[in-house]
Amino acid sequence: MRIHFGIKHGRDIIWPERCLWCGGPFEKRQKYKKKSLYDFEYRIIWFNILSRVQTIYCPLCRKHNIMAHLLRPSRLLWVSIILFIILLDIHVPWLYLVLLLPIAGYFYYQKHGLIIHTVGENYLELSLPDGKYAEEFGILNSCDTIKGHLLAQD
Ligand SMILES: [Zn+2]
Repeated sequence: MRIHFGIKHGRDIIWPERCLWCGGPFEKRQKYKKKSLYDFEYRIIWFNILSRVQTIYCPLCRKHNIMAHLLRPSRLLWVSIILFIILLDIHVPWLYLVLLLPIAGYFYYQKHGLIIHTVGENYLELSLPDGKYAEEFGILNSCDTIKGHLLAQD
């Protein structure tokens, strides 16, 4: 289960001074960039795509910094496609089991990683795995429960 937070734009996100994945001492803040498209503007011969971009930095220890880099869902998709193309040439059916690795990686990331869902008009929605870390994050950023698991800042 994941806890969702809504952070108003213009407010700094305060992170607990620990690794998000293991709670150990953190070494690096990993950069996460999210782009949300929200509109098209039609012109006579072209169109503009309007988007909002937000970058945040999440504290991670050395080991989980590397893991979070490798297991990003977008990277896993590319790894799967490349593996699939390679496997098509090899013709050894059991080797297709290798494709389970990116899938396992995806679920592992969903369980432990930071996910930025949308960059909205007024706020950024992100989610963290349920637990002490998310609780502390909620307190540090003074998030209150609105409904269900969506927490938001006032
Ligand atoms: Zn860690």
